[in-house]
Amino acid sequence: MAKRALAGRMAADPLTSLPDGLHVGVCGSGSPFPDEKRAGPCTLVVAGSRLFVFDTGSGSVRNIARMGFNTGQVEAVFLTHFHSDHIDALGELMLQRWVSAANTQPVPVHGPASVETVVAGFLQAYSLDRGYRVAHHGAATVPPGGFGGRALPFDTGPEHRITLVKEPDLEIVAFDVDHDPVHPAVGYRIRYKDRSVVLSGDTRKSAAPCSARRPTSTCWSMRRCLLAWWRCSRPVPQRRAAPT
Ligand SMILES: [Zn+2]
Repeated sequence: MAKRALAGRMAADPLTSLPDGLHVGVCGSGSPFPDEKRAGPCTLVVAGSRLFVFDTGSGSVRNIARMGFNTGQVEAVFLTHFHSDHIDALGELMLQRWVSAANTQPVPVHGPASVETVVAGFLQAYSLDRGYRVAHHGAATVPPGGFGGRALPFDTGPEHRITLVKEPDLEIVAFDVDHDPVHPAVGYRIRYKDRSVVLSGDTRKSAAPCSARRPTSTCWSMRRCLLAWWRCSRPVPQRRAAPT
């Protein structure tokens, strides 16, 4: 029975069953306000057989599992900004990523300046649990070196954008967005082979996500994907109140 269950999970693994390409999934589309139907902001990007997570709102990590993904296979996390609803499941994600695949290295957590403060805070909060987990489950199941996350802060600089990953088939670029008074705040463009997608994060209506878009890009908002795509397909209008 255990073998059948394992075979069933492997057969359903999206990383092995999806066709080669760039895939986007919404693991959370909520806001800071309680919502029984929506987890906090979170977007999955599958590039080939590689899994990336953009923002980790409350409840989103459980959605990742409900979507059939093994959280242990998350290669890296990217944060758009540090509003609580975008980061409040980072501790759970780091834990599940550690224990779900006996990872031996912390998960890389990319983010603008001060991401190191966010990661350090979660590491401190989970420091006692780290010891409990290793003592309970054993180092073979939860290798001590795989605990937590490794903060990778970046600065978008005078060009307001920076290339974080540049490989022949994969490129990830961060760019500034207008989420005043939240500074810094960024979006991301992910290119895999000949396809790309733009994640705006929270932003006022701005030219930035649209200018980051390429002709083959899909523009994707953490919360209002269809609306964001509509925005990016039209001229940039006047400012409105910022989303939370
Ligand atoms: Zn925000």
